[in-house]
Amino acid sequence: MTDTESLTVMPTPSDAQQAKPASAQIFAIARQAQCDWATLSIEDRSASLAPLAKLIAAHVDEIADLIAAENGKPRVEAIAHEVVAAVALARHHCRVAPKVLRPTKVALPIQPHRSARIERRPHGVVLAIAPWNLPFIIPLSQVLPSLLAGNAVILKPSELTPQAGELIAELTTRCGLPAGLLQVVQGDGEVAAALIQGRPDKVLFTGSVATGRKVMAACAEFPIPVSLELGGVDAMIVRSDADLEFATSAAVWGATFNGGQACCSIERLIVHRSLHDRFVARVADKMARVDRSRELCPAIDERQLEVWRRHLQKATDDDLTVVTGGEFVGDRKLTPTLITGDGAQSSAVWCEETFGPVVVAVPFDTDAEAVRLHNQTRYGLTASVFSGDPVAAQQLASQLRTGVVSINDIAATCYSSPELPWGGVGESGFGRTHGTDGLLDATWAQVIESPRVPLNRKRPWWYPYGPDLEKAMSALAVALASDGATSRASRLAKAGAGVLPLLSRNPRR
Ligand code: NAD
Repeated sequence: MTDTESLTVMPTPSDAQQAKPASAQIFAIARQAQCDWATLSIEDRSASLAPLAKLIAAHVDEIADLIAAENGKPRVEAIAHEVVAAVALARHHCRVAPKVLRPTKVALPIQPHRSARIERRPHGVVLAIAPWNLPFIIPLSQVLPSLLAGNAVILKPSELTPQAGELIAELTTRCGLPAGLLQVVQGDGEVAAALIQGRPDKVLFTGSVATGRKVMAACAEFPIPVSLELGGVDAMIVRSDADLEFATSAAVWGATFNGGQACCSIERLIVHRSLHDRFVARVADKMARVDRSRELCPAIDERQLEVWRRHLQKATDDDLTVVTGGEFVGDRKLTPTLITGDGAQSSAVWCEETFGPVVVAVPFDTDAEAVRLHNQTRYGLTASVFSGDPVAAQQLASQLRTGVVSINDIAATCYSSPELPWGGVGESGFGRTHGTDGLLDATWAQVIESPRVPLNRKRPWWYPYGPDLEKAMSALAVALASDGATSRASRLAKAGAGVLPLLSRNPRR
């Protein structure tokens, strides 16, 4: 089979044909495959998956067509946000995994006669539960580090975008990944919940806060370690010295790409009062120019559309002003919508995730107030600061309680850089995909500690206890706390000398 041969994505099975959730067979297949896979070196596993980047690049059109058809997003967004990010991720992770996951030696000043190393062990079978909004790159970001680390993966794609999950299986199979290492199980939330009951060794969940709570509760029962990548209400902070044209273009794109259905879409604009009215007018003007057929993405389904309707109705009830947009057009589309008004901070459009092409603007006077407004939310995923003063922008950024902050750009763009850890705080979840942290999260740390030289003598701190031991240990504590390399070394040597006679105490106790 060549790289360029067309992809054959398996048709999604009908409900009746779906694999029995949590069936012992799915887990047995995964466990069997994982045993062999984990015995390979990290170099060999990386080499097996190394062709993935080129394979994805060779099938840009097919992958983009499938994502666009299934999810409804503009084809160019499928390429720019998913395929490009997928190639970058595959290339980067396969290259760095051997370095990040290799065993590391650790010096032990308190036990110089011993040596230790930390090895990264795979969890075993990882269950990845994915959302529909980035149906290719998000599951790939769950699957790839897990596989590289030596795990088997059971992937449950969103029931709204099942084919994108099948695509990942097809691509990894083409790389020659052994059968059973990645299994795609289709179905809805019930299927995912049942798979958790099958007791995977780790659960990676990306989705809404409400579902994340259920997943965490289900995992707590066993307990199973879980990573949660949940929602967000991204805020863009615009200081008085920001470039108005640049920042307003960024605000319009950042709030509306993918129909605003991204965890990192801008939902809140926190704009310096001196700029606020001009900013709002420019954003409204630019929003009105978003092309409804080529650039505007529809709501994925009626449920999502209902959230948009509810939040807009609430804004009207709260006497807020819809400056532009608010119009439902065509097949499940909402025109880019900008909202302002006193009391916006207590309205649903500010406090809750709308996950639509809707953004609310609020003025501020001082940086401290901007920080307070930003940190008001229970979420903490992404944010951006727009400013002409790099020092002030950095100072402001480091006070924001959020996983990712971009200065003079949209934070969403960071998702395409696999070098950067991605994840949130607060109700946006915990755990990281991407970056070194993402690879380490696919493993647990095992310590292996052993003698440098054979010394099968009873340790001084074992029984019997007595004043000599207390004295020797007190001297050790003082030596460890001392400053200066020479003084510390000589104190440690002295403390060590105090311990030595204790080695020859009664071996029968
Ligand atoms: P969702 O929570 O409705 O569904 C996500 C997945 O969970 C689906 O596969 C679904 O079948 C499954 N699921 C549903 N009920 C379940 C249960 N009881 N137990 C286990 N699994 C269950 O979310 P969605 O609508 O698919 O995605 C949108 C949400 O995802 C938004 O809130 C968005 O912010 C968030 N998201 C977060 C990130 C991030 O990186 N933090 C990225 C993308 C999306």
